[in-house]
Amino acid sequence: MLERFARAMREPATKRHWAPQFECASRERIRDIQHEKLAAMLPYLYEHSAFYRAKFKAAKLKPADIKTLADLPKFPVTTKDEMARDVAANRPWGTYTPIDDKTWRRRGWIIFSTSGTTATPRSFRYTALDAELWATTSARALYAMGVRAGDSALTCTNYNPHVFFWSIHHAFNLMNVAVVPGGVPTERRLQMLDLYRPTILVATPSYSLHLAGAMREVGADPAANSIKKVICGGEPASGIASTRRRIEETWNAELHDIYGCTEAVPAGWAFTCREGLKRDPVATHVQEDLQIWELVDPDTFEPVSPGERGLTVVTNLNSEGSPQLRFLVGDFATFDYGKCVCGRTFARAHGGFNGRADDMLNIRGLKLFPSVVEGIVRGFDTLGNEFQIVLETEGVMDAFTIVVETSAPIDDTYARELRARLEAEVIRQCELRPRIQIAAPGTLPRTEFKARRVIDRRRTL
Ligand SMILES: [Zn+2]
Repeated sequence: MLERFARAMREPATKRHWAPQFECASRERIRDIQHEKLAAMLPYLYEHSAFYRAKFKAAKLKPADIKTLADLPKFPVTTKDEMARDVAANRPWGTYTPIDDKTWRRRGWIIFSTSGTTATPRSFRYTALDAELWATTSARALYAMGVRAGDSALTCTNYNPHVFFWSIHHAFNLMNVAVVPGGVPTERRLQMLDLYRPTILVATPSYSLHLAGAMREVGADPAANSIKKVICGGEPASGIASTRRRIEETWNAELHDIYGCTEAVPAGWAFTCREGLKRDPVATHVQEDLQIWELVDPDTFEPVSPGERGLTVVTNLNSEGSPQLRFLVGDFATFDYGKCVCGRTFARAHGGFNGRADDMLNIRGLKLFPSVVEGIVRGFDTLGNEFQIVLETEGVMDAFTIVVETSAPIDDTYARELRARLEAEVIRQCELRPRIQIAAPGTLPRTEFKARRVIDRRRTL
C-alpha cells in the first residue's frame, strides 16, 4: 500500500524544476493524475488514520466511493476544529495523520505544529520521503519565479516551526541556490545584505518593508541593493496592488508570492509565475498535480460554480506525513482555469489569496478584511508601512478607528486633508465610516515577523 502511494506521489514530483509534462498538461491529463493519486492516497489514509476512518464512517462512505473529482464533495470538509478536538482526545499527535510511532522512528524527519499556548497544538510528523517531496515540488515554484542556480538568498527567519521557511530552504539547496540564514537581529541582516550581496530576499511582506526602513535609517538605499527578487509568504502580498507596488519600488525588485498552509500545503505551494507578474491583477498558480483545490460556499461548504468566489479547500495528494482530505484552508479566492501567458495550465487564483475567513472582522454588522484597509493605506504615498485597526465598544456601537503614521512630519492643514481623503476612501471601499488617527512617524509598533494590526477591545456580550 505504502509503496503504491509513494510511487504515485513521486512520479509527478520530478527533480527537474521545470516539468511541462505536468505544469502544461491538458486539463484532462491533470484530472487523470489527480484521480490516479486519489486512488492511492485514500486507502492509505483510511488504513492509517482513525480520524479519517471515523469521518468516512459518519458519512457512510468507503474510499472506493470516491473515485473522481465529482465524488469528492460527498466527503464533508475537514476543519481545524475537528483536528483540535481529535488532538485534545489523543495527545500529543492526534489521529488525523497516517504517521504512527513505528514509521516515525524509522523515517521521521521533522515536526511542525500550529501555535498552541493554551490548547494542545496540532502537530504534524513528516518523513524522509516528505523531505524529498518538499524540496522538489517547492523548487518548481521557485523556478517559475525565475530563481536559478547561482542566485543566493537571505532568509529572514529564526527557523521556528514555520513551514514556509523550511520548505524554501530545502528547495534552494536542491537548486544550488546558496542560502544566507538570516536567523539574527535586523542589524545583522543589514550587515549580511551589505557583505554577502544576496540576490533574493525571503521574508513576510511586512518584514520586507521593515527591513528596508531600517536600511534607510542607516543611510543605505534598498533600491540600490543586490536584491532582485523579494519572495514573500505568511501574509497576502502580490494580490494587494498597493503593497505589491510599494515592495517592488522600495527594493527595485520583483515581488513573488507563496501560498500554502501548515496542515496540508507546507510545500509545493501556490506561486506567482514571472510572466504573470506583468498582468494585473496578479494571479497565483496552484500545483494541481500535487493537490486538488476546490472553492466552497462560506456558509454551506457546498462547491461554488466555476468562476465564482469561494473558500479554499485542499486535498493534499503528495504527502506521506499529512495527506489531508478536503481540508478547509479558508481563504477567499476565485479560480481561473484558462491557460496562463507562461504556458502553465494549473488553475490560478485571480488577485491571489487575500482574506482568510478567520481574519474577517464584523463591524456594525458589515464584513471587513484587514487586507482591504491595507490596500487603501499603502495607496497613500505619504503614509508609512505600519497601521492599526482598533475596535472598541461605545454604548452599543462598534467604534472603528484606523491609526496610520506618516513617513515624514506634516502640518495641521495637510493632516486634515489626509484624514478626509482616507475616510472617504474607506467609506467608498468598505461602506464603513472610520475614525482616522494620524500618529507621528515611527511611533507605531514595528513588524518583526507577521504583522498584528487588529486590536479588538470590543466587549463581548
Ligand atoms: Zn503563469
